[in-house]
Amino acid sequence: MKRLYSLNFLSRFLFLLITPVFFQFFAIGFIWHSIYWGVITAVVLIWGGFILLSPIFGRIGCGWFCFFGIATEMAGHHARIKTQWKKPNVWLRLLVLTGFFSSALFFFFYNTQRGLGHGFDFIPGFLKLNFNTHYKAVWIMDISAALFFGFLLDKKWACKNLCFMGALCSVGAKFSRLIPVVDLSKCTRCGKCEKECMVGLPITDYIKNNKGLVTNSECVNCGKCVAVCPVNAIRLKFVWNRKRYKAALEKQA
Ligand code: SF4
Ligand code: SF4
Ligand code: SF4
Repeated sequence: MKRLYSLNFLSRFLFLLITPVFFQFFAIGFIWHSIYWGVITAVVLIWGGFILLSPIFGRIGCGWFCFFGIATEMAGHHARIKTQWKKPNVWLRLLVLTGFFSSALFFFFYNTQRGLGHGFDFIPGFLKLNFNTHYKAVWIMDISAALFFGFLLDKKWACKNLCFMGALCSVGAKFSRLIPVVDLSKCTRCGKCEKECMVGLPITDYIKNNKGLVTNSECVNCGKCVAVCPVNAIRLKFVWNRKRYKAALEKQA
């Protein structure tokens, strides 16, 4: 379990490296282009899959694959403004979500050549495979924005407040079966997991008030808290029924 974070780091590093080549498969912005062209592309399938998996595996798309999240997280270690944990701004998220999809749908319907009766075609490789000039420019803009937000505003601020995909995945992740769980009999309340958490989650609150179940839909299941715990008290675990799990813990106490 301790090695999970090393795997996570490897995964994030590899995805950061291959993103310039397979940019149109991973970059969530291309979902807009897919709607605009009326085509179900690879990026729609990949991120649609992550949304569908989020009630079971939580935010693994964010924590293991998204190059934007990876770049903001890396830059976030040197952020100028360090903030306390705050819940995401729901209204801001909704505004971005609505703007993104309504503008894409507007252009989808506005395209008179396609006609209103035309649905979506299924062409996963529709967006060009070569990393052409247009994609290069978008990639540079995305990476620059990620680094800017990371250096300026702390860990994952942009993810928590601005990203429409984060908003969508967090809905399913509220029910995620895979969550960090703290063994209260081993935990020394040192707070190291909270200090090192990739998203800055208030893990100690969950230790005090939630029997050690970190049921926060912003958790990206990266495993960093597991790696840093000095007494191996925290691990990622499948909890299929949270109520029953807590009731069992109460019985044992
Ligand atoms: S919230 Fe958005 S930008 Fe952040 S890691 Fe998830 S998908 Fe990527
Ligand atoms: S709680 Fe643990 S697994 Fe979840 S984001 Fe924080 S460090 Fe990663
Ligand atoms: S790092 Fe381990 S011992 Fe320290 S508060 Fe977190 S779970 Fe408890």
